Amino acid sequence: MSEREDVQKKILDEAERLGKGDAFRFSCRPGVSCFTNCCSDVNIVLTPYDILRLKKRLGVDSKQFLDEFTVSPFTKEQTFPVVMLKMREDDEKSCPFLGTREEGCTVYEDRPWSCRMYPVGKASPPEDAAGEEEFFFLMKEEHCKGFEEATDDWTVGGWMDDQGVADYDRFSEGFKEIVLHRLVREGVELSPRRMEMFQQAFYDLDTFRSFVFESSFLEKFEIDDEEQEAMRTSDEALLEFSPRWLRFALFGDVTAVSIKEHILEAKREDLRRTGKLK
Ligand code: SF4
Ligand code: SF4
Repeated sequence: MSEREDVQKKILDEAERLGKGDAFRFSCRPGVSCFTNCCSDVNIVLTPYDILRLKKRLGVDSKQFLDEFTVSPFTKEQTFPVVMLKMREDDEKSCPFLGTREEGCTVYEDRPWSCRMYPVGKASPPEDAAGEEEFFFLMKEEHCKGFEEATDDWTVGGWMDDQGVADYDRFSEGFKEIVLHRLVREGVELSPRRMEMFQQAFYDLDTFRSFVFESSFLEKFEIDDEEQEAMRTSDEALLEFSPRWLRFALFGDVTAVSIKEHILEAKREDLRRTGKLK
């Protein structure tokens, strides 16, 4: 377990649970003695919106981004694929986007959610988990002097506003809808094909767009012209659609997408023929 994972586990077990109005003192800026120390040998799990922002920033498509800058470790315990930033193969195992000590992060305006939030952590229970609420906590790690050298007062909510996490949090709602879905918590196992659908719809948006517009997808599913145009031209619109598609494709939720009448009729006919529908 890495230092950060170790600290996170300890915090979830023991740390004070904070709300958005709770205060803390912390400073992170060029000039703190530890500047950029947190950008090496670190596990950064990327969200779908992190990937969208970074691939745009770098001017590459999602497939190129995933191939060049990420790794997807997989264990038997995982239900879904996870994408992590691939650290450089230098002695420090530094982040691929770390510049000189003076430059700091070279993708700062598009840095991932977890880089923005640090040292604030967030724990989100599933939406239907009775009695459990989202809470925040502070990660105080040895290498980070931001608490010791602090001159700035924050609230948790003020920190999040300052770091620009609102768009990231908006897109994370659709992601959570899938990864914390009731069927997932009940232990549903996804076939390799469904895993691939998840990977494509959330992480590999350019390939997902080809699937939507270059396969028979639009012959089967009703999507109005305006939404089609948005999905064709905007990664954000496509990513808004991804959780709807996955609710249907992974969990069979027919309320998530509108299936064309001729497809439904063919299915009914098939069921009648086999005696499953009278
Ligand atoms: S993306 Fe930027 S802030 Fe995040 S670890 Fe890399 S260099 Fe540091
Ligand atoms: S204060 Fe903490 S978060 Fe900021 S650069 Fe130093 S180690 Fe990184």
